[in-house]
Amino acid sequence: STGDMKILLLENVNETAVSIFKEQGYQVEFNKSSLPEDELIKKIEDVHAIGIRSKTKLTSNVLKHAKNLVVIGCFCIGTNQVDLEYATTHGIAVFNSPFSNSRSVAELVIAEIISLARQLGDRSIELHTGTWNKVSNKCWEVRGKTLGIIGYGHIGSQLSVLAEAMGMHVFYYDTVTIMALGTAKQVPTLDELLKKSDFVTCHVPATAETKNMLSAPQFAAMKDGAYVINASRGTVIDIPALVQACKANKIAGAALDVYPNEPGKNGAGAFNDDLNSWTSELVSLPNIILTPHIGGSTEEAQSAIGVEVATSLTKYINEGNSVGSVNFPEVSLRSLDYDQENTVRVLYIHHNVPGVLKTVNNILSNHNIEKQFSDSNGDIAYLMADISSVDQSDIKDIYTQLNETDPKISIRLLY
Ligand code: NAD
Repeated sequence: STGDMKILLLENVNETAVSIFKEQGYQVEFNKSSLPEDELIKKIEDVHAIGIRSKTKLTSNVLKHAKNLVVIGCFCIGTNQVDLEYATTHGIAVFNSPFSNSRSVAELVIAEIISLARQLGDRSIELHTGTWNKVSNKCWEVRGKTLGIIGYGHIGSQLSVLAEAMGMHVFYYDTVTIMALGTAKQVPTLDELLKKSDFVTCHVPATAETKNMLSAPQFAAMKDGAYVINASRGTVIDIPALVQACKANKIAGAALDVYPNEPGKNGAGAFNDDLNSWTSELVSLPNIILTPHIGGSTEEAQSAIGVEVATSLTKYINEGNSVGSVNFPEVSLRSLDYDQENTVRVLYIHHNVPGVLKTVNNILSNHNIEKQFSDSNGDIAYLMADISSVDQSDIKDIYTQLNETDPKISIRLLY
């Protein structure tokens, strides 16, 4: 029952999540920070769910001590801190929150467009050190200028709407054909986008295809005096090539929020040539706005992450619904009607091998299978079935039989 559910929350996950879990009646243990590995190992032993952010490393060494763990919630975007392969092969679903901060990133980019056009970063740095430098030369309004968006996904499309509201013309390039919002237009090639745009902004994922997507030839193809923005991933822009294009006055300024190598923690002295060889050259250029990967860092995004991940976890715990999981096949059925007597939901996570459905349905065959859904993802597969006309005494029997099947990874019965 939900009252037996134990969930361990680390790293001060947002309070929106804590209240969602408490409403469900789960036993919630809340910690403001992460735990040293030995303490984590002790605590993880008997919990059913764990909520973390980026500092807690759920390695196989930690996870092997988890006897009851069914689900991991990463209250952040990345999932590198979790040994996903171990989790998957041991039937532990992992959820994260990829899109809760899209709006925050889009707003930052709007701020950067205006800041670059007005050289705000430089004026502010100058006056902080006492220099009054009132200039209008090469400072522009953004109204009527052209914004080129590379990648028209969650962030790119949101940005498109905001930029048009300021009177900008929007073009976008994406490998997929995507419906334009407002009066934005999709262009068929990156080159066409580069030739048309006063501002070029990147909103693509880090993949082999997007590595150094903007490099010397692309900067050369841009308008003279264009601006470049990257708040996507550090691999997307070839920074030494950007430095050269800025020095040649081809590019009039750039705003970067992400870098090939980023410091692991906050503090002075962390961003230098040891980390990225081009750092000192980049920081000495005019009109370069540098921010420490804060695109998605807002209070609103944090609470949205809390709600999104807590909701995913709750749905997985209460209903077996794995939609949005990063490592599981996505399986869901309508909510289980707990009031309907003698109905049981079977959640059967198994190795993806031939003959499983036959074996399982044989075991369930004395009952009425109301609904069934099954899907696979690589080596792992997940079967969900609602069966009716099950007596209390049958439940244990079904569990035992399923538990003895060869391909089984884990089983839960909800009733
Ligand atoms: P998304 O998946 O919604 O959209 C990405 C778009 O890029 C998709 O439309 C996809 O078709 C397109 N795309 C993929 N490969 C492409 C290619 N080679 N050429 C052209 N288009 C291509 O992602 P999103 O949520 O909009 O995020 C975009 C980027 O922003 C991601 O890299 C994400 O990691 C990053 N991000 C950064 C921050 C931050 O703090 N700076 C915060 C959130 C997300």
